[in-house]
Amino acid sequence: MEEMLRLIADPELRSQVERVVPFHGYLSTGAFIGIQMFNIARRELDIKEGERIFVTCETYNCLPDPFQVLAGATIGNKGLTIKDHGKMAATVVKRGEFGKKTRGLRIMLDPAKTAQYPQLHAWFMKTCKVPHPEAVSILIEAGESVYSWEVLEVEVPDRPRKVIAICERCGESFIQRENEALCQACLDGLAAESHKSCCSNPED
Ligand SMILES: [Zn+2]
Repeated sequence: MEEMLRLIADPELRSQVERVVPFHGYLSTGAFIGIQMFNIARRELDIKEGERIFVTCETYNCLPDPFQVLAGATIGNKGLTIKDHGKMAATVVKRGEFGKKTRGLRIMLDPAKTAQYPQLHAWFMKTCKVPHPEAVSILIEAGESVYSWEVLEVEVPDRPRKVIAICERCGESFIQRENEALCQACLDGLAAESHKSCCSNPED
């Protein structure tokens, strides 16, 4: 870890790594990629220190954590969404007024570009076991040259009204999506029961 930090010339990047490591547990390649993606987005979208952003990560693996600890975009404040497409890609969107347009950036680790770095590419494609310190040190050297990004125009959706209902089956309160009378847990339970009864009936 100390050795890794010595490879990083930029003091800001070094301090970002020092904040991410205790949060994530160690310096994984994916976590370092998240830091680099966040820095590209900050510059391209002119995101100010402390400015709230929306982030969508396309994998659960490592990538979301730097956005949580460095950008304060968390699951709980709805700043962070995971769409598990299994991709090393993230979209960062500047917060805007509800119903208006705002700018976003989708960034990906680009296999056409990692191909110039065989060991990094091997880590990315999982073609052989590459230790994290090795992959991270290649990323430090490669910098932003292994990423591709595109600017998006995004409409900020109107804030939906929250309707709380009492489930007619279990009596617990839940956030109603449409006009459903039962909570999702009870609906799932009923679906499982009807599946069981149809499977256990020999006449069926
Ligand atoms: Zn219920």
